[in-house]
Amino acid sequence: MESYAYAAPSSVSETVALLAQNASEGRQTQILAGGTDVLVQMRAAGHTPRTIIDIKTLAETNRLDVSADGIYIGAAVPSAVINEHALLRSALPGLLEAADLIGSTQIQGRATICGNLCNASPAGDSIPAMIAAGAICEIATAAGSREIAAEDFVVGVGRNALAPGEFLLGLKLAMPSAETKDAYLRFTPRTEMDIAVAGVGVSLTVAGGRCTQARVAIGAVAPTAMLVPEAAEALIGTDLNDTALHQAGEACKAAASPISDKRGTAEYRKKVVAVLCRRAIVVAHQRIQGA
Ligand SMILES: Cc1cc2nc3c(=O)[nH]c(=O)nc-3n(C[C@H](O)[C@H](O)[C@H](O)COP(=O)(O)OP(=O)(O)OC[C@H]3O[C@@H](n4cnc5c(N)ncnc54)[C@H](O)[C@@H]3O)c2cc1C
Repeated sequence: MESYAYAAPSSVSETVALLAQNASEGRQTQILAGGTDVLVQMRAAGHTPRTIIDIKTLAETNRLDVSADGIYIGAAVPSAVINEHALLRSALPGLLEAADLIGSTQIQGRATICGNLCNASPAGDSIPAMIAAGAICEIATAAGSREIAAEDFVVGVGRNALAPGEFLLGLKLAMPSAETKDAYLRFTPRTEMDIAVAGVGVSLTVAGGRCTQARVAIGAVAPTAMLVPEAAEALIGTDLNDTALHQAGEACKAAASPISDKRGTAEYRKKVVAVLCRRAIVVAHQRIQGA
């Protein structure tokens, strides 16, 4: 009978080799970051024995760089660490408010935003925020590494774009200018420890009173979090007046294809995503204005 195995490789190349070796032997593997999803999954019926590969000790996945040259958040850096990084908090308040919504303080001591992305839940809170912020995923491969945009990483419910033998090393983000700020808002039926009924991440650049760039991403209202270019188009060139906000909200509503479940009907989720979009735009705009 198959049993679980645990490995903690000491380098990226060793990790990739271990993934390849297990694949060639027909044995399943699963990367372990914070484990806040993995351990729950291991207790679920139908989780088959496999090799758990712990990436928490790798130097590359523990990298956290925040400077004018750019931002790098390694795949093993827990939410609690990024949430307490003052420069990161002022640069990407929206991404951090999404990370700060994941579970509790205890969960955030382990959970990573890269784990949240790899887990590919439609309701993963950090995913719309990182898409809005323009995050690029750096993926370790047998040949070295490759990069894809965060909006292309999740390809279905619980499915991501990693090929066998690959794992996510970390996220690269540009350091936003003073005229660029982000925001993330979600709605849950309960105030504590519940998953989103809808979530919206927004990143805006405003110069001379006009919105010059925008990225709007929605979560929990479709099989995957997604960028809504039509919402951004409704904002760019405007002074973010009520009409522009309304059109952006309606674009999010039109892009959404939610399910109905115990947390809310599809119709309700569509209404909520439009409201959250408008509110997140206001929050990001106020941040740019220093309000
Ligand atoms: C009590 C509780 C409350 C929660 N609340 C929320 C919430 O409010 N919002 C929310 O979005 N989530 C929530 N979660 C889910 C979970 O905490 C998050 O998804 C978390 O961000 C996962 O990060 P992790 O580092 O623990 O991932 P892990 O559990 O280590 O991994 C998650 C998945 O991604 C894979 N993986 C992880 N890292 C990599 C990598 N670098 N490369 C390839 N694959 C990788 C793993 O194999 C696994 O399939 C909650 C969980 C619990 C237990």
